[in-house]
Amino acid sequence: MNRPADKPGSGAKLVVIGGGFAGLWATRALAKAPLDITLIDRANHHLFQPLLYQVATAGLSAPDIAAPLRQILRDQANVRVLLAEVSGIDLPHKTVTLQGGQQLPYDQLLVASGATYSYFGHDEWAPHAPGLKTLDDALLIRRRVLLAFERAEAATTEEEQQAWLHFAVVGGGPTGVELAGTLAEIARHTLRQEFRRIDPRRAQVRLIEAGPALLASFPPRLQQRTRTQLERLGVEVQCGTPVADITATGYRLGDRVESCRTVLWAAGVAASPLGSMLGAEIDRAGRVKVNADLTLPGHPDVFVAGDLAAVLQPDGRPVPGVAPAAKQMGSHVAATLKARLKGQPSTPFVYADYGNLATIGRMAAVVDGQNAGDASYKSLAANPNGAAMQAALDLVFKGKEQPSGYTEPLLHAWRLKVKAGA
Ligand SMILES: Cc1cc2nc3c(=O)[nH]c(=O)nc-3n(C[C@H](O)[C@H](O)[C@H](O)COP(=O)(O)OP(=O)(O)OC[C@H]3O[C@@H](n4cnc5c(N)ncnc54)[C@H](O)[C@@H]3O)c2cc1C
Repeated sequence: MNRPADKPGSGAKLVVIGGGFAGLWATRALAKAPLDITLIDRANHHLFQPLLYQVATAGLSAPDIAAPLRQILRDQANVRVLLAEVSGIDLPHKTVTLQGGQQLPYDQLLVASGATYSYFGHDEWAPHAPGLKTLDDALLIRRRVLLAFERAEAATTEEEQQAWLHFAVVGGGPTGVELAGTLAEIARHTLRQEFRRIDPRRAQVRLIEAGPALLASFPPRLQQRTRTQLERLGVEVQCGTPVADITATGYRLGDRVESCRTVLWAAGVAASPLGSMLGAEIDRAGRVKVNADLTLPGHPDVFVAGDLAAVLQPDGRPVPGVAPAAKQMGSHVAATLKARLKGQPSTPFVYADYGNLATIGRMAAVVDGQNAGDASYKSLAANPNGAAMQAALDLVFKGKEQPSGYTEPLLHAWRLKVKAGA
């Protein structure tokens, strides 16, 4: 019997690098196009990064936010999924090189390999302050956080105990805010009665932001509310001082050295290194400056989308590195490829802004943007318990194209949490 994968399309070869929001949305939207698509990802799953912090803080388990790419694309006959790391792109010869040396030819290429964390030139901090980008990162952070409480319980001196009960989150953007808020709640609520020698409520959770305020892209009113809400949860917010050093035993803020065994990194974004291999102009974060239709300047057959693409909105502001933008870019690339098959010209990408959201613990969230769905606001007002998660899902899943078998487990997990009053 012929399985769908045995019957690839008979058209031009499209190689998609990255099965994240941009790459997967483009691939899905091309389900009926006469193209031979190869989707390459170094992970075997598509990851819902906005809820990574929930896995990192033991609120969700890994399968709740990850779905196998093969399963998502099982019924799409014109796609082959390849688990591999792309190490090079040869534009003149139209080939993609995989780690190990294998080369794949393409007629059209979509580079959607996303972004990662930047340690601002201090890569030596990475082992001491893990960032949150992949499932492995989230599981590492979860292990470190839970182990820290265990080490504190076993500590033999007050000093040692305090160092293990000190949690520092570097970076006051949405991820830092979400991590710090959830950590404070774990300490104050979840673990409250689990230990005998320590009182987890004494844990010190500090959120450190080099800039003057948290959530730099939000209006000042929401920045202040975020700070107030975090402080209510017991988070110590420290703005205006960059971290000067991070070691295995602590960190330095200005002249002050703080003993701390758990530092988490949520600052600084750097685009995937594949961007700099494309020979185009890149911005400070390494994102590729693309044409209005998301093609690479001088290479109409190469597209760049998602976090890796530097695209300006009509008012001059950059399109933000968020999931809805990546999905929209992926869909736009697919629309352009379909138009080309009909001999039609491409159109400029226009970003529809649904707003920004950051959750603060279980009970609160800040949402910025008049275009954010009304439903999100209503559910936020009507059901503060779990409303943050609902609003996040509403915002990120807005739009019609949802991979099957992907939203369901997530929504299910969310419903279970809401039911349990978690
Ligand atoms: C912790 C965290 C929280 C976030 N919270 C939110 C939020 O609340 N709301 C929101 O809208 N956005 C949020 N974002 C941002 C959002 O996740 C990104 O904007 C979005 O994932 C970008 O999509 P993308 O397709 O460009 O890249 P990604 O989703 O990162 O996908 C890139 C894919 O490329 C693969 N890849 C990378 N390099 C290679 C290579 N060399 N070879 C093969 N494969 C490769 C990766 O494995 C990955 O699957 C968050 C991000 C993080 C990290």
